[in-house]
Amino acid sequence: MIVPFNIPYVTGLEIDFIKQALESKKLCGDGKFTKDSQAFFEKRYGFPKTLLTTSCTDAIEMSAILADIQPGDEVIMPSYTFVSTANPFLLRGAKIVFADSEKATPNIDVTKIESLVTSKTKAIVPVHYAGIACDMDVIMDIAEKNNLLVIEDAAHSIDSKYKGRFLGGIGHMAAFSFHETKNIISGEGGMIVINDQKFADRAEIIREKGTNRAQFFRGEVDKYGWVDIGSSFLTSEIIAAYLCAQLQSIDAIQEKRMDLWERYFQNLSELAEKMPNLLPVIPSYATNNAHMFYLKCDNLNERTQLISHLSSNEIKAVFHYLSLHKSKMYADFHGKRELAESDCWTDCLVRLPLFVDMTIEQVDFVTEKILDFYSA
Ligand SMILES: *Cc1c(COP(=O)(O)O)cnc(C)c1O
Repeated sequence: MIVPFNIPYVTGLEIDFIKQALESKKLCGDGKFTKDSQAFFEKRYGFPKTLLTTSCTDAIEMSAILADIQPGDEVIMPSYTFVSTANPFLLRGAKIVFADSEKATPNIDVTKIESLVTSKTKAIVPVHYAGIACDMDVIMDIAEKNNLLVIEDAAHSIDSKYKGRFLGGIGHMAAFSFHETKNIISGEGGMIVINDQKFADRAEIIREKGTNRAQFFRGEVDKYGWVDIGSSFLTSEIIAAYLCAQLQSIDAIQEKRMDLWERYFQNLSELAEKMPNLLPVIPSYATNNAHMFYLKCDNLNERTQLISHLSSNEIKAVFHYLSLHKSKMYADFHGKRELAESDCWTDCLVRLPLFVDMTIEQVDFVTEKILDFYSA
């Protein structure tokens, strides 16, 4: 049985919606499918304002401009994350201050944040790893006390909650991804969420190459022109049509992913009694959105052997982030400050296959091979 790591899901409606977009003779941004997608998110999650972007990376780039990050400003984020959490701030000239992860989850250790705050700190960027919430009350308190902005990297976090509130709706801004490896996809794609009203008007301008085109189309100004810096962050209607089709099936997609996730968890729970660090931990304040099923091995050697054992059984499992504080790009800037838990996740985390078209039989096959590995 071959088990790939991921297969991008197609609901079947995408092609109809794309055809409608083609027939509408309007393919640039901000057409019907963009508006419908944004309206969907605003209604379902109660987000005050959303704007589709070409990627989550672009959404974070917009947030860095909106946060008015200047050269020399400091931005605190976990080291155990994707480069897209950091790059947008670096592009504005910021210094990235990496924080360690928790032992129980790869999320930022909120008890380590306050000692990293200086007079130059401008923002905190928590990443809800695997869609499991960071402890946002603590982060928002630190931000308020120190006059900082909070930008949620919610790339993994669709449909997931913190203390009953949807992720992406808690910080001042948030960024989602619709990359083909995420729960809801459009190939490449993303969205910025503006929770703090004071960024709403400028967000539209920055997304439209620094012009007030959106206000012009609403009849709020009588001509449109260049009023600010910006870039072309908006998505084509072809992409938005694909996304819109996926959103029609969000409940079915989530249900299927949850079933697979639960099956993994159940099948491995007996093994986990002997290996207490193995299975993902979901804190009481967080929910699971089945973005990812990961294991934590005890060391790098064990993980390498496990991945190779699965590979020899035609199962594709992968490791994940290489801590950014040790990256070729940033190690010299970071210096020697140790981030032990981040290093531990870098060495020990393994992601198992999880995609909508995966079968329960495939999950059972993967866990059978994992049990074989640990009983040998
Ligand atoms: C996928 C991902 C991104 C980037 O998303 P894109 O849409 O590919 O730009 C950013 N942050 C995290 C944590 C991610 O997993």
